[in-house]
Amino acid sequence: MKSIKMKSCKDIPYWHSNVEKIKIQCNILPKSVDIIIIGAGFTGLATALHLLRGGKTVALFDAMKLGDGASGQNGGMVGPSLHKLGLDGLSKKYGKNKALEILQEGMNAITYFKKFIANENLDCDFKMTGRFRGITNLKALDGVISDCEKLMALKGFNFEVVSKENIHTEIGSELYRGGVIYPQDGGLHPFKLQIGLVDKVVRLGGRIFEETAVGDIEKTPNGFQVTTIKGSLNAGKVVVASNAYTKKFSNNKLAYFYKRLLPITSAMIATEELSKETIDRMFPKKRMHGGNHRLVQYYRASPDGKRVLFGARGSDPFDRSLQNGKELKTHLCKIFPEISDVRLDYSWSGKVAYTFDHTPHLGVENGLYYAIGYCGSGVTRSIYLARQLSRRILGEDDHRTAFDDLNFESKPFYNGTPWFMPFVLKWHNFLDRMDGN
Ligand SMILES: Cc1cc2nc3c(=O)[nH]c(=O)nc-3n(C[C@H](O)[C@H](O)[C@H](O)COP(=O)(O)OP(=O)(O)OC[C@H]3O[C@@H](n4cnc5c(N)ncnc54)[C@H](O)[C@@H]3O)c2cc1C
Repeated sequence: MKSIKMKSCKDIPYWHSNVEKIKIQCNILPKSVDIIIIGAGFTGLATALHLLRGGKTVALFDAMKLGDGASGQNGGMVGPSLHKLGLDGLSKKYGKNKALEILQEGMNAITYFKKFIANENLDCDFKMTGRFRGITNLKALDGVISDCEKLMALKGFNFEVVSKENIHTEIGSELYRGGVIYPQDGGLHPFKLQIGLVDKVVRLGGRIFEETAVGDIEKTPNGFQVTTIKGSLNAGKVVVASNAYTKKFSNNKLAYFYKRLLPITSAMIATEELSKETIDRMFPKKRMHGGNHRLVQYYRASPDGKRVLFGARGSDPFDRSLQNGKELKTHLCKIFPEISDVRLDYSWSGKVAYTFDHTPHLGVENGLYYAIGYCGSGVTRSIYLARQLSRRILGEDDHRTAFDDLNFESKPFYNGTPWFMPFVLKWHNFLDRMDGN
């Protein structure tokens, strides 16, 4: 195997290399606000935007710098993110009608998302490119096509099958035996979207406190008293938008949430700049891409069309970005052996929040509002569920979703640290190899 060129590889997200970070000047805490939001990723920011427009005063707290959570680091892929269990799995659990309602929420989410980006005029390289999912064996391809046929019951869902003979119209790879195009998917620059939201929230008077973790949350007669590392303040309501980072930064006041979330590492790499001919050959239609690997591979060209961005579950037990990057590069080269020699310029990772039922959840628990657990597909979902959650907080009727009445499952003895994940990932890696992937 060729050596992987990592010497000058930076362990920061590629997305941060070409967008200026906004400087936020909030240091002095207000005495009280209407609503406190914990977490300033897409969920927190989009919720804040709607609440500010609804006339509320809002303070957002993030334990990290803006962009260092999942929202500023992800693959930037958008779409309906239809449920992992599919129509059959969901029907078994909830009955067919509820299953269709849950799946339809995915279509509602992408429809809303497109309107939101356009109406807010958010400059984030958003394009409805479609997504090509390459499949490595014919049995799996039949299964994917049969699942898609069932999903035709959903409003707005569409797909196209690509045979092996035509595969080069979609991708410059010999790995796949065929595939499926999802035209309702697209891509964007996630950090530009986050910065665009920050800008709007700040202009509307929202106060964002970076590097300010929220600790204690006590009930008061009029709402809550919240303690941060910069002091305490009161709020009528509190929104939990801390997703996969809840356990890392919060105390047991948020235990209800972290006992229901599995934070899992998703890692990404960006290659050096490649020639236009190479990128055109690899990604003829500049779509988003994925496969059928259990380690969830996703990849694309960067929005400027110069680099390959590739992501998958991070399998390094110590979560080291550069170690994850090496592993990712070997997966990337299996798809595109022609770039085995290229240098990696960026390698990074963040946390996604899985739930035990593979479903995102939103609602109110013990007075705390929340939208959480997007299972690795949170760009579209977070923007959509933030809107629904804020409609609920504002007392508007149009807040309902198919997720509202679902039980938010935990497991006995699970305390928010998925210690078993390295073993699961190893097992999935083994199964992928057995499948010849
Ligand atoms: C590498 C990677 C690739 C991904 N690719 C895609 C993709 O292509 N498409 C897709 O749809 N999804 C993708 N995702 C998932 C997606 O990014 C997330 O689902 C989404 O950004 C979640 O947004 P959020 O605002 O809920 O959470 P985050 O953006 O993670 O924000 C939560 C914030 O809460 C803060 N916080 C936590 N606890 C506290 C506390 N006590 N006090 C103060 N602050 C606190 C954290 O600091 C964090 O910044 C990816 C994720 C990763 C990591």
